[in-house]
Amino acid sequence: MDLDIDGRVAVVTGGASGIGRACVKALADEGVSVAMFDRDPRGAAVAAELVRNGKSVTSHVVDITDEEQVSAAVADVIAQHRGLDILIGCAGISGPVGVKLADTDAADFDRVFAVNVRGNYLMAKHAMPHLESSEIGTIVLVASDAALVAFEGMAAYSTSKGAVVMLAKSIAIDHPGVRVNALCPGIVDTPMSRADLGRTELGFGGSGLPVMKASQLARHVLFLASPASAPINATTLVSDFGYASRSALGELGFQH
Ligand code: NAD
Repeated sequence: MDLDIDGRVAVVTGGASGIGRACVKALADEGVSVAMFDRDPRGAAVAAELVRNGKSVTSHVVDITDEEQVSAAVADVIAQHRGLDILIGCAGISGPVGVKLADTDAADFDRVFAVNVRGNYLMAKHAMPHLESSEIGTIVLVASDAALVAFEGMAAYSTSKGAVVMLAKSIAIDHPGVRVNALCPGIVDTPMSRADLGRTELGFGGSGLPVMKASQLARHVLFLASPASAPINATTLVSDFGYASRSALGELGFQH
């Protein structure tokens, strides 16, 4: 399938690790010039390796919760590329894991919302004039299946991801010239999921959990980010092997 994004310009937040990193590579492989925004300076090494392989990738140390940093970094991208076509919001944190709501610190709750919700809002706000000037302007926000089913001990995360889904719809409705969709993945093998599920050393091999690779999810992101998916807009794609749709009865073992 021709994604028709060769020569376009994209910003990917959270590009230094996991899903964001896979999206940066997948976009660069399609001939897109990619600016990675991440608060982790190790993004520079990710960009350098792709540049060595002939790709157009720049790395920007940006905390997406800080409006001045977001505004300045977007301005840098525009100064360099004269436009912006695609924004991928991957940066996110899980916050407290295995902590009941009543034991969750308000500061932790706020920290999760600051990155997962405010960060995506600030990015969309500052990217918007440039995306509106592009004939294919589009945003993909990586939410989570936690937006659809509550994860025990992760109230801040689950609630924030519900907000990300609604943020995507709200941006799309307010700015009809830009296509905006959210993606709700199940478990993706990344440093975040390994840490959250106690698999940092082991990985997911033999866990019995339904896990996808970040490179696989990146293909879903690219589909939503490309004209190949027009006119899909203001909606949510769930990428979870069907688990969020399964009834409480589970498999009933009918004889066929
Ligand atoms: P990850 O921890 O591997 O990568 C997240 C990246 O975001 C990191 O590089 C981190 O430095 C960056 N980041 C965090 N806060 C930031 C900030 N304030 N400013 C700029 N950058 C910041 O995690 P991942 O698993 O790749 O997750 C990517 C996104 O996918 C997240 O939004 C996560 O909630 C979502 N998600 C992940 C899974 C999964 O199983 N891994 C499942 C569903 C949704």
